[in-house]
Amino acid sequence: MSHTEKERPTDALRRHFANRVTNQVRVILNRWRIMHEHPLTPENVEELRHETDNLIRRAQRFGEKRLLDLAHDIEDQLIVIQQPELLNDKASLRKLHASIYQLGQNSLRRNDSDHNVDHHIPNKKPVFLAVNSDMANKLTEQLNHFDINSQVVQNSEHFKQLSQQYEASAFIVDIHFQGNDQGINLLQSWSQQKNDTENQSDTRGAMIFLTNEHSASLQQRLAACRAGGERFFVRPAVPQLIRSVEKYYSATPFEPYKVLIMDDSRSQAMFCEKALTQAGMITHVVTDPMNILHAMEDFEPEIIVMDMYMPGCTGTELAAVIRQQAQYLRLPIIFLSAEDDKDIQLKAMSQGGDDFLTKPIDPAHLATTVQNRGQRARVLNNLIVRDSLTGLFNHTHILDRLQQACRRAKENKSQVCFAMVDIDFFKKVNDNYGHPVGDKVISALSLFLKQRLRKTDSIGRYGGEEFAVILPDTKGEDALHVMNDIREVFSQLEHSAGDTEFKVSFSCGVCSFTGDNSDNIVEQADEALYEAKRQGRNNVQLFLPDS
Ligand code: GH3
Ligand code: MG
Ligand code: MG
Repeated sequence: MSHTEKERPTDALRRHFANRVTNQVRVILNRWRIMHEHPLTPENVEELRHETDNLIRRAQRFGEKRLLDLAHDIEDQLIVIQQPELLNDKASLRKLHASIYQLGQNSLRRNDSDHNVDHHIPNKKPVFLAVNSDMANKLTEQLNHFDINSQVVQNSEHFKQLSQQYEASAFIVDIHFQGNDQGINLLQSWSQQKNDTENQSDTRGAMIFLTNEHSASLQQRLAACRAGGERFFVRPAVPQLIRSVEKYYSATPFEPYKVLIMDDSRSQAMFCEKALTQAGMITHVVTDPMNILHAMEDFEPEIIVMDMYMPGCTGTELAAVIRQQAQYLRLPIIFLSAEDDKDIQLKAMSQGGDDFLTKPIDPAHLATTVQNRGQRARVLNNLIVRDSLTGLFNHTHILDRLQQACRRAKENKSQVCFAMVDIDFFKKVNDNYGHPVGDKVISALSLFLKQRLRKTDSIGRYGGEEFAVILPDTKGEDALHVMNDIREVFSQLEHSAGDTEFKVSFSCGVCSFTGDNSDNIVEQADEALYEAKRQGRNNVQLFLPDS
């Protein structure tokens, strides 16, 4: 029996209305996407306010508390921005952008139901491919699978034409495109020219360089860096490239850093908060050191800015306490203090601090330091918590996240779902087409999950061909529905091995839990998965306690 048949009418109704709220979020994101690329006018701010009002009404009606708060916040900011002298004030715009970004994060699954409207704050600019024709063909085909639009570059003249016609979300460039090291030169002179004609660099696509030789010299890597290259791959596999591009293609222009500010002095904290939010970061202030651990769990900061002297304990002690917990070992802690004794500064650094900044400090200096730390931490963190084939969270990390989700469910009295996904008859894929083709299928499914699940959902590669998904604030039937939609579409996707095409399905087990019944989550999802396999595979089952 299919799950739609089992569904009660009230569930369908609830989802229908939830979609109306989501659609309104899309309208806002779309409008913002179009308008924020140009100077704002009072008229388009007014239109955005009108749509925000609509969202407020819908969110109110359907009890979407979180969205309601965000919409009110956006509304307040729009009122501020409507004042003529603040209309294109950079700091206000960044703040607004961050709030709209959060709205997107909190509401949308990337591809849910309605295909007519764009989602997120999408970046639908094409990816330029300046690579040999063999690679270009392979990449285009695979990118198409993921609805990523690409433009193959024939030669340097063609590149110039294309780059006048379109803006790119990313460039994939063979360093030897059109001759020895010419690929780098091409991009170098193009970005030089852009620098001369424009003052803002953030509309520029990301540059990904590659070489098919067995190695690259430091000179080549340097040249690629100087041209603006963000990534450099030696003999990359196609899924690897797609993953690095996908990030830029569907990403918002920037993902703001989340910074926790620990300072017992409210005025100092506010100074810091202002400096960081003006630079586009999201901040959370804690003034009582005793609350810091709780705030960290809740806010999940990527960086901490900490005062040295506070009542109850010192910053150094607090850093030591934070470092006692394995999950925070890599979290950057930046001390910000009037302390100018170098010995004390050094001691603070040796006990878990990453930087020591002295007050008074220039806001721009503070923001840059925090940003640099954040950027490095993101890169390092990804290496540690992510699986290398798929870029999803690895086994250990997804289980850590599950524990966090349990804690949070307990505190918020919310419901969370956990889903286990296992590809059907995967051994046959390997046996029939070879292991590399099997790997491609695994990558395809992982991208698929990433595209179709909410950003707030956590997706992990649990084992070889098994995946795990955590869906916070979700009811069992809703999770069942979501996973079932994904199953349906995935099972229709064509995979290729040479000239043959084939399809693959998966089975999935879902269990839902609250803080009060969070024992045996993995076992329960596993049991439901087993049931799905037993029912003939290509199937999603919800764990029922009495089954
Ligand atoms: P079922 O429908 O019961 O899940 O059947 P199955 O064949 O998918 O399950 P089984 O657990 O028997 O086989 C899983 C296979 O997945 C065996 C293993 O070689 C393969 N596998 C595990 N990890 C990887 C990987 O990273 N790449 C590839 N290509 N294959 C993998
Ligand atoms: Mg298996
Ligand atoms: Mg399997």
